Amino acid sequence: MSRIAYVNGSFVPYNEAYISMNDRGYHFADGVYEVFSYNWKGVFVDAIPHFDRLRHSLEALDIAFPLSNKSLLIVMHELMRRNRCREGYLYLQITRGVAPRDHVVLDPLHPVLTLFVRPHVFKETPPLLKVFTTPDIRWKRNDIKSISLLGAIMGKYQSARQGGDEAWLYNDQGFITEGSATNAWIVNNQGIIQTHPVTPAILNGIVRQRLLKIAETLSLPVEEKAFTIEEALKAQEAFLTSSTKGVHPIISIDGHPVASGMMGPITDKLQRAYWHFQHTLTKDYDE
Ligand code: PLP
Repeated sequence: MSRIAYVNGSFVPYNEAYISMNDRGYHFADGVYEVFSYNWKGVFVDAIPHFDRLRHSLEALDIAFPLSNKSLLIVMHELMRRNRCREGYLYLQITRGVAPRDHVVLDPLHPVLTLFVRPHVFKETPPLLKVFTTPDIRWKRNDIKSISLLGAIMGKYQSARQGGDEAWLYNDQGFITEGSATNAWIVNNQGIIQTHPVTPAILNGIVRQRLLKIAETLSLPVEEKAFTIEEALKAQEAFLTSSTKGVHPIISIDGHPVASGMMGPITDKLQRAYWHFQHTLTKDYDE
């Protein structure tokens, strides 16, 4: 299958998709990104909250939003079509632009917008995941979806070397903030769904936001309150969420099984409800 990327206004084959040596994304990770899931109905799931978060990230860095939501969606669908991708992810990156290497460039630059696609078949039955905890060594603005992911990558490597699928990051007080590329959840020993509140310590996941609405519809109790590693180890259930994974159960933390070491009933309910939500969507957003 031919692979086509989008680079600053042009659809180009992968091997012709070049970024300048002086792109500030390359020199300084001076840029942000978003990852959209695209389902078999041809819909970008929760596209508008993704655009809202992209706008938030760009505003924090004083980078202009390059296109309207509508124009971006046209480009995104066209990229899917050109790649003959029926289901998968779309990665969107925007950097501040191109300029000779200097920490500060006061003149506004032309932002560089790149998109690429990764085909993926989403499965109704999620895999059972293992996580290992590692210190959260990232910066203090995790609400910005920065392309600088070193802290996350180092955590995930640490977990992967022990056979983990994801790293759960804990802060200096021993509270889990989130996963390296996912939001972290437990069903605590009182049966309450718990996840870190929205602060700059976490990325407010689009699936996280959707799942909170789903839990409310299902009348499931939720508390947006940080939990410790010890609380997670005593939890009835644990799971993670992201656009690439949806809702995935966690069956062990640091090698210790979570409860019975199987997917719990609340995770099952939420996972099914999120699957159903995604697959009943017929358009990106309502006019
Ligand atoms: N937290 C971090 C650090 C992430 O990188 C991601 C996704 O990339 C998430 C949470 C989940 O966000 P979303 O549900 O928008 O995919």
